[in-house]
Amino acid sequence: MGRRSGKVSRFISRFFKERQIYHRSDGVVHFISMSTKTQIALATVVGAALLWVAYASVNVVFKEQIIVAKERDSRIMETTYNKRLHDAQRAYDDVNAMNHIIQRNFDETMADISARHHLLRNMVERKVTIEQGLDALASGLAQAGGPSGEKPKNSNRIMIDVKTSEPTPRQSRLSALRKEAFLEARDGDGDEMISSEALDAMRQASTDLHAEQMLLLAAIESNAVDKKVHLEQVLSSTGVDVGLLVTPAKISNVAFAQGGPFIDPAGANIGSPRFLQHAGRAAEAIDELEAFYAALKSIPLSSPLTVSRRYTSGFGIRRDPLSPDRYASHYGIDFAAPYASPITATAEGVVKSAGRRSGWGLMVEVDHGNGFITRYAHMSKITVRRGQKVGLHDKVGELGNSGRSTGPHIHYEVLFRGKHLNPKRFIEAGRYVFES
Ligand SMILES: [Zn+2]
Repeated sequence: MGRRSGKVSRFISRFFKERQIYHRSDGVVHFISMSTKTQIALATVVGAALLWVAYASVNVVFKEQIIVAKERDSRIMETTYNKRLHDAQRAYDDVNAMNHIIQRNFDETMADISARHHLLRNMVERKVTIEQGLDALASGLAQAGGPSGEKPKNSNRIMIDVKTSEPTPRQSRLSALRKEAFLEARDGDGDEMISSEALDAMRQASTDLHAEQMLLLAAIESNAVDKKVHLEQVLSSTGVDVGLLVTPAKISNVAFAQGGPFIDPAGANIGSPRFLQHAGRAAEAIDELEAFYAALKSIPLSSPLTVSRRYTSGFGIRRDPLSPDRYASHYGIDFAAPYASPITATAEGVVKSAGRRSGWGLMVEVDHGNGFITRYAHMSKITVRRGQKVGLHDKVGELGNSGRSTGPHIHYEVLFRGKHLNPKRFIEAGRYVFES
């Protein structure tokens, strides 16, 4: 400390030592004496003034440049900001456009799915209607039973050699159909393959649904074909040519048959060519099933007596019951049951004739359409009139002993296109018309 203050005081005493300034005017010498303190004060004032001048000059010189720099910075910022804003606007527009495309794709896809669903639902509904009819028919026939009232048994099904192809496991069929659906969906809208997560997810879901719908169609088809094959066997067991009973030309789906792109009224594209192919085949199978069901309803597959009865005489050559020494053709079958037991129609139809006929006594004829006619003879009473509509098991009269008869019984005939057939075969076939 002492050394330092010593240095300062040495510096001061060196630069600011006491000075006398001599001044001579008019031969007179004056002098001004300046102390160290005075010199320091003077130096301080001069130094401060110099600093101020320096600061002011620098400020004036560089102010312009500072302003220019600031303006340049703010211009850069503004440009950057505008660019960002523009980018954001463009991104917004892109998103908007993408949303628009996604929305349109979504709407179209939903319309397609819903059109296919609509078609499927119609098919399922048609099939269910046919099946309900078949069930009702089957339970009616089951109630009447066989020629002597035998009830059908599940083991009685005559599913002889149904040549259904080995069923492929569902999963592998589904994945095969999924692949087809995917390829076709890709071919279908190749022009608008904009990739976005939302679109991809939607396309995937749509493709999966498309495949499921095709699988459902295939299931509808195969089930309808199985049922048709079963009914075909039932019908052929009656001995009647099935081709004469079922008109296969009742294909209602010309649009499918052609395979062309079917456009539904709502404007949606119903599906891929493969889907249409499946739909066409399923529709065809349902048409055929329906034709078989319609044929089946007109075929007398039941017994004219639903009450307890005895099958007494068969179809063909037999001894004439009234002249035992003679043989005669018996064109029907006979059942014995208590007098006045109800006689019922063996299928739906229209009463063709009702009245007394020589040899037959009181007889009713029912026309079932499709070439089928049934006859009910030797009755004690007729309960229908000509032209009257009857359903399966509707009462047409009461059992009796009228006409050429040896005791209370019913004589029952089945005619197909004017030719007598064995009614027993029909009644037996009727026992197999039921679903598993
Ligand atoms: Zn008879």
